[in-house]
Amino acid sequence: MNINKNVVSLLAVGIMACVNLTVQAQNATDKHNQHHQDLLQNQIAVYEEINLLDTLAMKELEISDKLSLASELYGNDWNQERVNPYNASKMELPDSMIIDLSNYCIPHNGYITSNYGWRRRRMHRGIDIKVQTGDTIRAAFDGKIRLTKYERRGYGYYVIIRHDNGLETIYGHLSKFLVKPDQEVVAGEPIALGGNTGRSTGSHLHFETRYLGMDINPNAIFDFNNKTIKVNQFSFSPKLLASKGPSAIHVNGTKYGYNNGKSGGSGTATYRVRKGDTLSRIAQRNGTTVNRLCNLNGIKKTSTLRPGQVLRLR
Ligand SMILES: [Zn+2]
Repeated sequence: MNINKNVVSLLAVGIMACVNLTVQAQNATDKHNQHHQDLLQNQIAVYEEINLLDTLAMKELEISDKLSLASELYGNDWNQERVNPYNASKMELPDSMIIDLSNYCIPHNGYITSNYGWRRRRMHRGIDIKVQTGDTIRAAFDGKIRLTKYERRGYGYYVIIRHDNGLETIYGHLSKFLVKPDQEVVAGEPIALGGNTGRSTGSHLHFETRYLGMDINPNAIFDFNNKTIKVNQFSFSPKLLASKGPSAIHVNGTKYGYNNGKSGGSGTATYRVRKGDTLSRIAQRNGTTVNRLCNLNGIKKTSTLRPGQVLRLR
């Protein structure tokens, strides 16, 4: 605004100068021209300044736009100790949300050795990708390193990135960090070297995609076989994800699991009874207890199971 005023006054001065000078003697013409030239030059400089300021303002707007999604979601919560310091179930969350995936990078080109979901009695909240120790691991999206840590019985050396698009990604069992907490990274930037640290047998990358601490099956986001993304814009319901907890996300007609990041399992999972099944065997295989199965399904420990019968597991 000030600059525009300056331009106006500068032009006014220029016009005044012209008027005054034209009524002067002929020998003043050269001086006048020179003066006019100076004024025009000044004017150009001011316009250039305006353009530069406009560009800077646009840049700032773009940056704040980019950061606003993540900061709106996570606020000032920049925990550098815990994987999931959030309490999404107690937050006011929108019914629908679109996450921009257009600027992405597959963290490593290896094949999947273990998928998201129940594995024996534990929930596997990410996927495992085959890597060799020392392989470069890359940031999935633009963002900022929230933490780098070591967990002997779990992730080993691991990195968590909070992305501008609202997701957080976790990279586990690493051998070396190439980034530090608070460092900003762009999609594809090397962040670590792959390894075999923590609870791991054989070098691999454990990779998780989370939203406010709630894990989403990475296969819903990435197409690891074709080394691409499933969709440019990933839409889902944060409210449903947080309230119902474990459920499914549909992407291109395929169902993918997600979890509220708290309970050990999938709330809507069911099991179809097979011949010879017993409650204790079903419980054991699915990481639950006979009592829980009875409560969930309104049956007694002594109830007879019939093949084909569908039981709720969670
Ligand atoms: Zn894993």
